[in-house]
Amino acid sequence: MIVIKAKYIIQDNAHYIENGAVAIEGNKIRKVGTFDEVKVPADNATIIDLKNTALLPGLINTHAHLDLTSLKNRIAPTNNFTHWVFQLVGAKARWKADDYAASIKEGIALCIESGTTTVADITHSGHSFPILEKSPLRKVVYKEIIGLNPAYAQKIISKASLDLSDISTTDSYNIGISPHAPYSVSKELYKAASRLAKEKNLLVCTHIAETQDEIEFLAKGTGNLPVLLQKLKAIPDGWQPPERKPIQYLYEAGVLNEKMLLIHCNYLTEEEMSMIRSSGASVAFCPKSHHFFGHKNHPLSKLLEEGINVGLGTDSLASNDTLDILEEMKFLYAHYSLPPEVIFSIATKNGAKALGMETNIGQIREGFEADMCGIRLTNNSTGNVYEQILDTPSKNIFTMVAGAVCYNAND
Ligand SMILES: [Zn+2]
Repeated sequence: MIVIKAKYIIQDNAHYIENGAVAIEGNKIRKVGTFDEVKVPADNATIIDLKNTALLPGLINTHAHLDLTSLKNRIAPTNNFTHWVFQLVGAKARWKADDYAASIKEGIALCIESGTTTVADITHSGHSFPILEKSPLRKVVYKEIIGLNPAYAQKIISKASLDLSDISTTDSYNIGISPHAPYSVSKELYKAASRLAKEKNLLVCTHIAETQDEIEFLAKGTGNLPVLLQKLKAIPDGWQPPERKPIQYLYEAGVLNEKMLLIHCNYLTEEEMSMIRSSGASVAFCPKSHHFFGHKNHPLSKLLEEGINVGLGTDSLASNDTLDILEEMKFLYAHYSLPPEVIFSIATKNGAKALGMETNIGQIREGFEADMCGIRLTNNSTGNVYEQILDTPSKNIFTMVAGAVCYNAND
């Protein structure tokens, strides 16, 4: 048994215990209470005293591309999305398997060090599967698929199905499929991915409503995206714009449901928001990546008011300078007028729900998986404990996934 003591045990957005302790047996949380309430057996118990630290449910990153980690500071910030894609394609043009592997491993280390215990990672090349499988993180790895030509939809799905069929999932390793985005995926391919997901019980995520370029392309077939797609030879002959908004496109394909994770959702109409709400789909919002591209006014508060589940993501280091979810939380606190308790939920419980794991992770509760992180508070922190976590110098010092200590900088 391991018993962790901390100044605060923050169970969720509404419950915390001062001078608390958590007892862990195997991969599960067995007891949560004050240190006196959590009776420590005389023998065979390891006690970890995190002192001036808030112990939180492990942070959940609902959107990452860990294979792009080594591109940190190599892609210039731009509000021209297609210009960004060209930079990205150029930067990794000569990458081999070893380059991907090094980048993914660096990403895993950064996640663990910063208190992330669960990551939802998208891989196009497939390199993430074996590497993340061996990592101590809890993860969902999504196979990315692309294809705007409906004639190839079935072929693409058969190949993806074959790629995924070798993978054995576990409690801490789940897989999914990610049709890339509506400007690169036909309705037929979205439908086929959704059918495969049902058949194999896969999670699904897609980039959606990310840029004004995407909206223009779907509405009229014009703008910057056709130029990009022509260059990449990704636009089929005779392609016609669907004349739909991004979420309508998914709705009409019949793929909006509670297993769908919608990445970005930067630009939505009222009608699209109500489609998301009634479908039960979740949203992954990436605040710092959103800022990198110069987008304005993410409808985060409106989504939350509507009762839509929103989790937090970092996106990749090709459009962010950090994979640290605590940094994203602090960024939200500084730039969006949300109470710290709400930001706490977005990074924990909401993220768990977005990945279909809300009955196992996202809270410090008896019977839940022992996924936790310890945020060292500053001595002069003021405000309630949720505000103290978001104090600028606070920092993760301890990461545990499934009862195993993965990182400990406690002194
Ligand atoms: Zn992405």
